[in-house]
Amino acid sequence: MKFTPAKPPLTGETLDSLTARLREKGEPAFRAKQILEWVYKKRARSWDDMSNLSKPLRTWLEETFELMPASLVIGKQSHDVTDKLLLEMGDRSLIETVIIRVPQEGVGLDHSRKTICISTQVGCAMACAFCASGLAGLKRDLNAGEIVAQLLQVCYREDARTPRARMELASFDNIVVMGMGEPLANYDNIIRALTIVNAEWGLGVGARRITLSTSGLVPKILKLADEPLGLRLAISLHGATDEVREKIMPVNKAYPLAKLLPAIQAFNEKHGRMVTLEFILIEEINDSIEQAEHLRDIARDLHAHVNLIPYNTVEGLPWKRPSVTRQERFADVLRAARISVTLRREKGHDIDAACGQLRLKTEKERELATGQT
Ligand code: SAH
Repeated sequence: MKFTPAKPPLTGETLDSLTARLREKGEPAFRAKQILEWVYKKRARSWDDMSNLSKPLRTWLEETFELMPASLVIGKQSHDVTDKLLLEMGDRSLIETVIIRVPQEGVGLDHSRKTICISTQVGCAMACAFCASGLAGLKRDLNAGEIVAQLLQVCYREDARTPRARMELASFDNIVVMGMGEPLANYDNIIRALTIVNAEWGLGVGARRITLSTSGLVPKILKLADEPLGLRLAISLHGATDEVREKIMPVNKAYPLAKLLPAIQAFNEKHGRMVTLEFILIEEINDSIEQAEHLRDIARDLHAHVNLIPYNTVEGLPWKRPSVTRQERFADVLRAARISVTLRREKGHDIDAACGQLRLKTEKERELATGQT
């Protein structure tokens, strides 16, 4: 289903596209920079905030663009380190954006390092067996403006918690494109969005601070390797043999390991940066020593970092998280081979942090409340 907003979001405009639009209207080129500065550096929340623009120009902007295409529905704050934002788009679609705080010694949580996890689609078509995001299939792609808007909403929230003297900074450290959706299935929009986020006239977030995670769309991984942007790449592997992987990830049928691993290698060669292999540990599915050994061999060949993620249970799905002993035993196989490995401690389980769960719950509640689907 395609969503065509009445007015395009300003957050989807690049400096070039906005300059061209203003030039058509007879405005000087520097206006575009001024406007983007209001949006990204000064965090203007209304057109009238843009006090160095004439009233007629502000009126025209208001008639032409949506300033903020995502509104905050719920901002749940967990007891520990994760904050989850539920955002509503113009067509009432719901998406999630997660703020993950990394506690640092001697620094309060408000001032700790923050990684933001953004969504790229409403729902997901990949149908991974363990994931809440894909349960109801794909509703639609997010446009570039909606992707960027998630990060601005985070800035609004964080600015309020920790007013920074220098507002021109993004109020977070890293971005992971690991929320709802398959980013490489929405290729043009995610590249445009991250170009805006990266640009010095946008949020100014360095490309090395942005990691894109994919379930393994091989042709798009190869395309991404040629982008000048220089993002970091993470692969949702979750199975170290085709037999295990295709049981839980249908994408493995089209792109089995024999195609996926060379594509990761090709990405490596172009970028020279370590790729991350993500591996969710699910009891009795992929947590055997044999899988650990296959994963070790793959990681060694690719010089990849391995991120082990204990499975987050999803309501309605049968999968379980292995015991800590089993998790450690799995990790030890990799450690013994000196593979760079992290065993992620869960963050935000108490606020439904596993992909798509908060949205799913809210949509169910909405259905109950309105009797509509
Ligand atoms: N489609 C992309 C990005 C979204 S999923 C991808 O597949 O990488 C982001 C990560 O969360 C993936 O590694 C995904 O497999 C993982 N994930 C999904 N459901 C999970 C769950 N219930 N518990 C833990 N991790 C989960």
